[in-house]
Amino acid sequence: MRSEPVPEQRVSPLISLPAAGMRDARPGLSGVPADELSAWLGNRGEPTYRARQIGDHVWSAAVQSSDELSTLPNRLRSQLADAFRVSTLADTEITAADNGLTQKALHHLDDGQLIESVLMRYPARGWRRARATVCISSQAGCAVGCPFCATGELGFWRDLATAEIVDQVRFWARRLAEDGRRVTNVVFMGMGEPLLNADAVLEAAAALTDPLRFGLGARHITISTSGVVPGIEKLTALRPQYTLAVSLHAARPALRNLLVPLDHRWPATRVVAAAAAYARATGRRVTYEYVMIDGINDTRQDAAETAALLAGHLAHVNLIPMNPVAHTPWRPSPPERIEAFATVLRRAGLRATVRRNRGIEIGAACGQLAAEQAARPDPAVVARRRDLLVAKSAAALRSPGGGAMA
Ligand code: SF4
Repeated sequence: MRSEPVPEQRVSPLISLPAAGMRDARPGLSGVPADELSAWLGNRGEPTYRARQIGDHVWSAAVQSSDELSTLPNRLRSQLADAFRVSTLADTEITAADNGLTQKALHHLDDGQLIESVLMRYPARGWRRARATVCISSQAGCAVGCPFCATGELGFWRDLATAEIVDQVRFWARRLAEDGRRVTNVVFMGMGEPLLNADAVLEAAAALTDPLRFGLGARHITISTSGVVPGIEKLTALRPQYTLAVSLHAARPALRNLLVPLDHRWPATRVVAAAAAYARATGRRVTYEYVMIDGINDTRQDAAETAALLAGHLAHVNLIPMNPVAHTPWRPSPPERIEAFATVLRRAGLRATVRRNRGIEIGAACGQLAAEQAARPDPAVVARRRDLLVAKSAAALRSPGGGAMA
């Protein structure tokens, strides 16, 4: 359920996905709370150990269909299949890049909606163990409408249910298990704004970190937000050990208004204050994501204002070259400008890391695969949108402090 209204979008979505079909009324098994499943089994006269057997199938074996519930009697298997979906992902297409280290899945949901998840494998290096990070979606589409993001071009369709979120992780867990590997990290950075679907996202995170269910350490979960302050406050009240990742992308209000439209409702200063409260409550360093866009938000003044905004906070800034997205006039910043930006932050005492974009050739920025499946937008509308973005970004750069990085 969406917990907060979203502000009016400043740049309208371009692309229309196919109309949604009928929804399957059966809930996803991985989203059913343990006490509800036990009650359901009890009502059918089943012994209590059946709940553990089902849990083993869902969480340890990451089964994808009722045929795989092999330890259950046929009668119960068929009753379960009538009442629940073993996986909420109807169909999945996979594309690989980076010599197989990055794989992207386009999942088809029961009502025809498309969502994306990405598996990124990192080989062991030095003292660091090999990792397998899964980036998952929390909504079909997104209402925030950041103009550098492919999902922002799709518009918003609906929130994902808890099982639809968790099943993306179970999908990859199953594939990794075939190679004797497992998921080590989960990041809520795919399609959608996680904290505008906070209830389902927090339930999914709880299932993923429950030792009796998926069993991942809380510190291996990252929840991102483009700045939903009430959602950050809700998270702070729970005091989990998740990493909070805030999408900053600009410190100057004129520019952040354009790049992250939620800024109209929750400006960067309020977002950073809420994130700082999270850091104090949990002792966890907050990650700030900053997509680097050539000539737009990578100026010397932007670096200085970002450093000033985050000064004194428990913060780590990730600088990420923009993934080129169709229908925008923008391109990634050149490497030397990203390094110069990082130097300004480091001189101000902040931690800053330049990230590499994984899987650009398969459109690993969220929303790109789904956008490719959608109807092509009218070229005249695309041209008008590009002109609008050029005009708005030029105005933002003319605002106080918008000079170029030398
Ligand atoms: S960057 Fe995130 S919040 Fe912004 S439109 Fe894309 S998915 Fe939504």
